[in-house]
Amino acid sequence: MVPLRKPWASAAGSFSDRDSLLVRAVLRYESDAGDRAELDGWGECTALPGPTFSSEYTAGAVEVSERYLLPALLSAKVATAADVTPSLAAVKGHKMAKSAFEAALLDAELRGAGLRMADFLASLSRSGQPPKAAVAAGVAVGLQGSLGELLDEVERYAGEGYRRVKLKIAPGWDDKPLGEVRRRWPELVLLADANGAYASIGPAHAGARLARLDGFALACIEQPLGEDDLVGHRELARQIQTPVCLDEALTSVASVRAALDIGACSVVNVKAGRLGGYLEAVRVHDLCADRGVPVWCGGMVETGIGRAANVALASLPNFTLPGDLSASGRFFEQDLAGPLDLLPGGIISVPDGPGSGVTVDPAALRAFATWRRWYPAS
Ligand code: MG
Repeated sequence: MVPLRKPWASAAGSFSDRDSLLVRAVLRYESDAGDRAELDGWGECTALPGPTFSSEYTAGAVEVSERYLLPALLSAKVATAADVTPSLAAVKGHKMAKSAFEAALLDAELRGAGLRMADFLASLSRSGQPPKAAVAAGVAVGLQGSLGELLDEVERYAGEGYRRVKLKIAPGWDDKPLGEVRRRWPELVLLADANGAYASIGPAHAGARLARLDGFALACIEQPLGEDDLVGHRELARQIQTPVCLDEALTSVASVRAALDIGACSVVNVKAGRLGGYLEAVRVHDLCADRGVPVWCGGMVETGIGRAANVALASLPNFTLPGDLSASGRFFEQDLAGPLDLLPGGIISVPDGPGSGVTVDPAALRAFATWRRWYPAS
């Protein structure tokens, strides 16, 4: 339970502490000469405290991990990240929980190999390009109580150097706040995220309502309709000029391909947790690059453990739009891992060290952990 500086609110619910399931993987090796080495790595499950973004939620992720995922991984003696998804194929869904195990093993392996996650992911990508040295930072601003509060919040982030702001919107909280932010900050990269909230007014009304945003030069509008409504998004995309981006609807490389094939979106939000892992996220990145579709890295109010891995992912070349990649101070007084600082120019450096490159703070872990369990492999 990591306290947030300020409660977070979107159409996908609200909370004032980040209740995250963290996975620590410890790999023990013994050389032929009898030398022993121990490597550890961390992964963060991005499920929110309640089933409000998707069907996954933190307590459910704990349950499925203990009952199904851990027994499957331990009985298969999985010791490499690439084996996590195949070993868990019998368990349907629960991709955010699965992704946390993949991320923890990946971090441990790469720390052992002295390899940065950004370099490793770039080596998997068909792009053939090295990772970027830094990524463009961005903030997502939750639903606010008033226009004044929203403008104060955006002013603070713009003043800190963020060049990209995403506003959470919902029917009745859309054209006025977006129009006012655009008027005051004409140069800001501005996005809107509905978390499916326009499904409640129907696609035809949603089209008319969201066409009002056409004049605001938004980089995209994210997930206006329901997570299962690809055809509705295609119809909506034809009614508005703002590019449609999908988030909740995209849970695998196959679903991204389907969405692109039918024209349901022209921008893709890549979240490793939603997709079942960083390895699948690289495949989505490559598919979109092949199609000329820009991607950006979405966030789930992760602690520094999850955000560091996201920064590594976003260093791939087709992440051409700034993501939900903010410095530790955006959400937390005290983060669990760092450093993840905002640098001049509104960027965050890709950490230098092996694995995700950040250092987990044991005192912060002790202070905020409410529960822990240890599962020996044998
Ligand atoms: Mg979103």
